[in-house]
Amino acid sequence: MIKNVCLLLFVFVNCITAQQTDYVDFIEGDAMFGLVPDSSKVFGLMSYKFKILRDVDSLFIDAKNMTFEAGITLNDKKIDFKNNNKQLWLYHTFKKDSLYEVLFNYQAYPKQALYFLKRQDEWNIWTQGQGKYTSHWLPSFDDVNEKVIFTFSTLFKKDYTIIMNGRRLGDSLSKTVNSASFVMQHPMSSYLVALAIGKYKKESLKTNSGVPLELYYFPKDSLKVEPTYRYSKRMFNFMENEIGVRYPWYDYKQVPVHDFLYAGMENTTLTIFSDAFVVDPIAFNDRNYVNVNAHELAHQWFGNLVTATSGEHHWLQEGFATYYALLAEQDIFGEDYFYWKLYESAQQLKSQDVNKQGSSLLYPKASSLTFYQRGAWVLHALKDKIGASNFKLAVKAYLEAYKFKSVSTEQFISKVIEQSEMKMDDFVKTWIIADEFPYDLALELLKKQSVFIQEYEMVDCEAMNSQCYDYLNSYISDKAKIKIIRQAPQLVNRSTFRNNLMVRQAIAQYLTKIPLELKEDYETLLNDKSYQTIEYALYNLWLNFPEERSKYLNATRNIEGFSDKNIRLLWLVLCLNTLEYKTDQNSKFYDELVNYTSSKYNAEIRLKAFQYLDLMQACGTDCKQNLMDAKSHHNWRLVKFAKDLDKRLQ
Ligand SMILES: [Zn+2]
Repeated sequence: MIKNVCLLLFVFVNCITAQQTDYVDFIEGDAMFGLVPDSSKVFGLMSYKFKILRDVDSLFIDAKNMTFEAGITLNDKKIDFKNNNKQLWLYHTFKKDSLYEVLFNYQAYPKQALYFLKRQDEWNIWTQGQGKYTSHWLPSFDDVNEKVIFTFSTLFKKDYTIIMNGRRLGDSLSKTVNSASFVMQHPMSSYLVALAIGKYKKESLKTNSGVPLELYYFPKDSLKVEPTYRYSKRMFNFMENEIGVRYPWYDYKQVPVHDFLYAGMENTTLTIFSDAFVVDPIAFNDRNYVNVNAHELAHQWFGNLVTATSGEHHWLQEGFATYYALLAEQDIFGEDYFYWKLYESAQQLKSQDVNKQGSSLLYPKASSLTFYQRGAWVLHALKDKIGASNFKLAVKAYLEAYKFKSVSTEQFISKVIEQSEMKMDDFVKTWIIADEFPYDLALELLKKQSVFIQEYEMVDCEAMNSQCYDYLNSYISDKAKIKIIRQAPQLVNRSTFRNNLMVRQAIAQYLTKIPLELKEDYETLLNDKSYQTIEYALYNLWLNFPEERSKYLNATRNIEGFSDKNIRLLWLVLCLNTLEYKTDQNSKFYDELVNYTSSKYNAEIRLKAFQYLDLMQACGTDCKQNLMDAKSHHNWRLVKFAKDLDKRLQ
């Protein structure tokens, strides 16, 4: 908003505040730092080399709540500085075209961006720069347009693996300490700086083009490595091919961490992702890492190689990453999957507009749905308009023209115009600028492209009709069958159970009142290779057939479920509410449930366990103590729930 006002005034007064990037270019950053995990402290020695573009007498480095030792030097001479707890200001008569090097010691106790987690006496330390500001733990630049070539060195207790951006220069191991250095060859924005430390193992691969891939995991998850990282190499090869520009960095590492803030984060050469995506072969069927894996990988080009200048152009990162991830998934899961995902996002965008929450794609505070899904839709529609080969060449030209720099929507569109020699005004207005998502155009395009979508649209049992029963027994797609089951679960019959995993999951989800004649078939759902299906089925069977509760509980007593232990938690709650089942062990079951609210576990497990205990009105002394602890967690959902529950319990 402020930016626009300024632009209007620009003609009359020189109102635009100069950005620091207009008069100084930071070129290289070299950080050597140490961590004191028990006191959440970071300290280090840092240097920056920079070039002055215009004469100036002061400049700053972002540094949140840091302290600096006296003796900051500029080209080896002491220099005046000021620390306002947000920035470190340096004062000197800086001369145009001169090169300088500043060197300083710093220390900080970061409240965000660097997280020290302890699980069963083991540290897992990780960072999140985007939205949290790397300058909370590393003096750096909050402005994404300042791109620097970084070098890092750090150390930690032995037995731990240190992982950072860039090429590893080699670890040195002493008896008690492990140190590691990393060097980047190209500049990047500070929000992409990353660190992960843990007791990891790794699997190493090489892509077709020779890029080293490192897939990290916790030793206890060794059997989950294959399903978790399934298709990683294939997607990498696909992405290089599809984008038409070689992977721009030296190597690519992926690291799961405990209690991550998001699904994944595309730090340059080092994607950090939530360990909720570390899955066994069964969980893979419901919630795997494939989409997040592809999305973060695509960001290595869209976001990391070319970075949106400001929030207004955020879709150049998220829209592109979403679309290219979808293309990689199409290569694996097929066309129907691809069109289904586009169809699904078009529905969501439409209902967002109906609820008056939609906005232009260029609105800096647009919803994630808009940035990600509408952004992806722009590219899909654009490809249709200018043709696949023009699209590919335009994207390639755009990446090559602006590599290691920042980009705007205009710059992308001008490459599209250059390549296609077509006018884009109407397209830009409709797809990018307009507040409303052009749903009708989107649907028309999908129907033109996909018979599967045509069929899905046609099959409709919202109002029951005589064809509905036949649909369910015909050869329509699984998605269409799921739609009917959702709309009219009473149509489910014995033959419906002969469908595949996802259709059977829909039965478990929507057929909650189980007719006696379907009981036997319904019980087979407990054996499906889907933790989601088993959770629904266990609950519905327990509810519908009270006399058989012991049988259902026995059948599921050894299943944990997803990483959030969805089945184990439900099982414990059902046991505690089943009078005839193992009543002598009730206190053991209760203790186990309460234990899941403790800080030994991920936020999702704790939240679920708290919710169940709340539902049962059974949050006792230990539960309450864990509730206090949960209130200071970094996961806002857990914090919000803990605060609400605590209030209600008083
Ligand atoms: Zn993203």
